[in-house]
Amino acid sequence: MKKTKILLDENDIPKKWYNIQADLKTPLDPPLNPKTKKPIGPDDLKAIFPIGLIKQEVSRERYISIPDEIREIYRIWRPTPLYRARRLEKALKTPAKIYYKWEGVSPPGSHKPNSAVAQAYYNMKEGINRVVTETGAGQWGSALAFSARIFNLKCRVYMVKCSYEQKPYRKILMNLWGAEVFSSPTKLTNVGREVLKKDPNTSGSLGISISEAVEDAATHQDTNYALGSVLNHVVLHQSIIGLELKKQFELIDKYPDIICGCVGGGSNFSGTCFPFIRDKIIGKKPDLKVVSVEPLACPTLTKGEYRYDFGDSVGLTPLLKMHTLGHTFVPAAIHAGGLRYHGDSPLLCKLTKEGYMEAVAYYQNEIFEAALLFAQTEGFVVAPEAAHAVKAVIDFARMCKRNNEKKIIVFGNSGHGHFDLGAYDAYHNNKIFDYQYPQDSIKKALAALPKI
Ligand SMILES: *Cc1c(COP(=O)(O)O)cnc(C)c1O
Repeated sequence: MKKTKILLDENDIPKKWYNIQADLKTPLDPPLNPKTKKPIGPDDLKAIFPIGLIKQEVSRERYISIPDEIREIYRIWRPTPLYRARRLEKALKTPAKIYYKWEGVSPPGSHKPNSAVAQAYYNMKEGINRVVTETGAGQWGSALAFSARIFNLKCRVYMVKCSYEQKPYRKILMNLWGAEVFSSPTKLTNVGREVLKKDPNTSGSLGISISEAVEDAATHQDTNYALGSVLNHVVLHQSIIGLELKKQFELIDKYPDIICGCVGGGSNFSGTCFPFIRDKIIGKKPDLKVVSVEPLACPTLTKGEYRYDFGDSVGLTPLLKMHTLGHTFVPAAIHAGGLRYHGDSPLLCKLTKEGYMEAVAYYQNEIFEAALLFAQTEGFVVAPEAAHAVKAVIDFARMCKRNNEKKIIVFGNSGHGHFDLGAYDAYHNNKIFDYQYPQDSIKKALAALPKI
């Protein structure tokens, strides 16, 4: 029988996360204190993160046990299905086999609760009773709101003002899971008040919202901060995707030739591909092709430089070694809100720099064209972020057709697009604009970076 879904049992949910830091040939460059430019230690992070997560952030252990209480919550939607995209293959007339790992089945609709649940758990365990964060389009905010509810934590979300006004449904979702949501900048923090004094009509930015959330956490004893991507512990939690995916390919006795995924801060794709990159590092699958996909409007991996930069736009966070467009980068209002960050996960960047992974970038209209073909063949309406991976997969499948190659292609399908229908409507009405971030602006922003 030809299978469409390759499914695992609830008991097959991995019992350990995979930590690629154990398999790096040389260790990651350490995060640096933004003032002294000296490596920061675990103690510097204690004001805003629980010890459980700080330990994971710096761990070099290969496998880290997943507490039963977290696996219990993962059971709500995990293991997620692996699909064979037969109707898409047929439409493309490709000899390639296309698969996708579908993370859109979680309650908030994306991969993000894989880490949000774990983060809420470690905070609860250490007696914290309130978590705060920022959100752009609202995917991360809703994942944290859902997870905080599960472990009875209070949750506050600083939501970038323009998204708060343009995307009311994600805010409603956060509210119904019990979180407070504020349009950021707010008058509740020093950072927010400063920004509002200078520019009362600002539309806000992710950088400002991060600074507000960090200030809130640092100034309240019972409160911690939670970040939805980029950091090592987030990538660690997301490895659950790739570990399941490996088991699913074993079930059908196959191994992918090409793995693709969209990259915003790098968490869903790192989680999907790192267990496979281990095989590449240890020489078991040297020719595996691993491809990050990003927007030309925010070309961090394809046009950014690999060097130390701040995580936020104000310059308060530790300096991280990563591909960056410069922390002063102002993103265009593209619809893939989750892909508008100036940097990327230091782990993913290091592996890209060392040649284990590569990256491609696309325009917005070709992304929506790909998502439309996907919806009309496979049925699922994907998030504009995930549509980037769909586009790359379609290009690889067409290449296989030209070369008559039966490659196995898989991509991480990071979330559904049910709250992004406005973007699809804009595409239908020819209101999506192709835009490429100018090389000049990258040069200027990079010239202003601290020299390390
Ligand atoms: C947030 C988000 C992304 C981008 O974040 P990563 O950390 O790069 O995974 C991608 N897809 C969806 C659906 C998202 O919500």
